[in-house]
Amino acid sequence: MEKTVQMYEGKAKKVFATNDENLCIVSYKDDATANNGLKKGTILGKGVINNRVTNHLMKLVESKGVPTHFVEEINDRETVVKKVSIVPLEVIVRNIAAGSLAKRLGLEEGTKLNKTVLEYCYKDDALGDPMVNEYHILAMDYASKEELELIAKYAFMVNDILTDYLKEVNIELIDFKLEFGRLADGTIVLADEISPDTCRFWDSNTKEKLDKDRFRRDMGGVEDAYQEIMKRLLGE
Ligand code: ADP
Ligand code: UDP
Repeated sequence: MEKTVQMYEGKAKKVFATNDENLCIVSYKDDATANNGLKKGTILGKGVINNRVTNHLMKLVESKGVPTHFVEEINDRETVVKKVSIVPLEVIVRNIAAGSLAKRLGLEEGTKLNKTVLEYCYKDDALGDPMVNEYHILAMDYASKEELELIAKYAFMVNDILTDYLKEVNIELIDFKLEFGRLADGTIVLADEISPDTCRFWDSNTKEKLDKDRFRRDMGGVEDAYQEIMKRLLGE
């Protein structure tokens, strides 16, 4: 598998075309941004950790029935994935109130939600990824009704699979963001990443934050938190 041209450079990853038109190579960077790109920095070793953690979790959810874009890890930072056209939605699943939800509804962070909450944001940096509901999504044709039903089903499946799995390594899954894409034949698969950049992970006992909130909130210990996640999930 050979990289050809760079298709895209995002805030955390680069995406390359390959000599197979149905595959691309994702390359994870150490760059970190927060606040819609206003805060910028580097988290040493993040690219390697996010690549390896994402692939580990993609394989897990795939084995439990959620189709994903994962094909093969080729080195510490790079992975071959199925090329998709991304559904322009950030699909957010929440078990415990934190971040923007806690702020918006005036809840204390850590408040357990009586029911898992599913939210959608329209993926558009210039607009600051505004929240949308099913009506907006259908009205704007971001996804079809059938696609959205499948996306919601997969998002809840991922939540159940990850929550159970993480519990075993003493991590509480607070909330996370998923992205889905369409293969050339229209099949919906889970794409992008599942990592401490895109999930809130708290130590089950101490409630210590082991995710990107340490960077967003200038809490220090950012690299150590990412390392700790890799250690608990991959044993190294
Ligand atoms: P951002 O675009 O938010 O800065 P990244 O730096 O993570 O984010 O860039 C990676 C980009 O690659 C994202 O826009 C993501 O939607 C896209 N992407 C993820 N998986 C695939 C895939 N399998 N095929 C094509 N694009 C993908
Ligand atoms: N999230 C993400 N990318 C985004 C926005 C959110 O990965 O552009 C993740 C974030 O890591 C958290 C969840 O989605 O796990 C919910 O984030 P929230 O809406 O609380 O936003 P934030 O507090 O990060 O602004």
